[in-house]
Amino acid sequence: TRHGVILYVEDVNLSFDGFKALNNLNLYINKGELRCLIGANGAGKTTLMDVITGKTRPDSGKVNFGQNIDLLGMDESEIALAGIGRKFQKPTVFEALSVFENIELSLAGDKGIWASLFHKLSPEQKDSIDNILRTIGLVNEAYYPAGRLSHGQKQWLEIGMLLAADPKLLLVDEPVAGMTGQETERTAELLTSLAGERSVVVVEHDMAFVRSIARQVTVLHQGSVLAEGTMNDIQSNPEVIRVYLGEE
Ligand code: ATP
Repeated sequence: TRHGVILYVEDVNLSFDGFKALNNLNLYINKGELRCLIGANGAGKTTLMDVITGKTRPDSGKVNFGQNIDLLGMDESEIALAGIGRKFQKPTVFEALSVFENIELSLAGDKGIWASLFHKLSPEQKDSIDNILRTIGLVNEAYYPAGRLSHGQKQWLEIGMLLAADPKLLLVDEPVAGMTGQETERTAELLTSLAGERSVVVVEHDMAFVRSIARQVTVLHQGSVLAEGTMNDIQSNPEVIRVYLGEE
């Protein structure tokens, strides 16, 4: 166990019909860091997220979380409860419910859904929803039906729904795809503000966005880590230029 590491992915292999989607992959995510994961189509980014969240089991390797929690022995819901939240690319919010109610439904704990159905939130729960609304910048929209939000606002709401479970690690898939420039900037601020208290891993194709948020970038290529470092390190790495940035 390395000090300060929250997620360990070690020597992970996964083949689909002989095709190596993950090839001896090693990845370490530190507590509180904001990491960007880049790589061409088919590099293995989604497959890696699937392995971390228990959607797909690798053929071999180790995936450990926090104080030696073996994620490979757990199913998707157990992994979510252990403190890993995943944001898929497309927002999935309950459009007919208000922004507030969407977060209410996601509140951690087995009483979450009943408390919200009967509007029996404790003052602490109400406060934590208000906090989330401030964090995601939707205080003024709290009682709008979620269906009336812009695409960007729906993405923030879904992040807010994940925050209700207070994850220690958030995995976020292409958050700014389809966003306006202003929404993209706001998303950069949001993700940056979330890191620190928790770890955030962002899969993203928008290089300007990656540069604007990430201290550390990991480049995947053919199921392995090709390079890791700052955006400047990455962009001057000859291997990366050859196999990835050169093709963009
Ligand atoms: P993108 O940027 O397009 O999302 P990615 O880096 O996320 O790409 P993956 O989706 O992880 O890449 O895919 C890695 C490789 O594994 C691809 O070649 C893909 O076709 C293959 N693959 C992924 N899932 C399966 C599956 N269930 N069955 C067969 N092949 C798969």
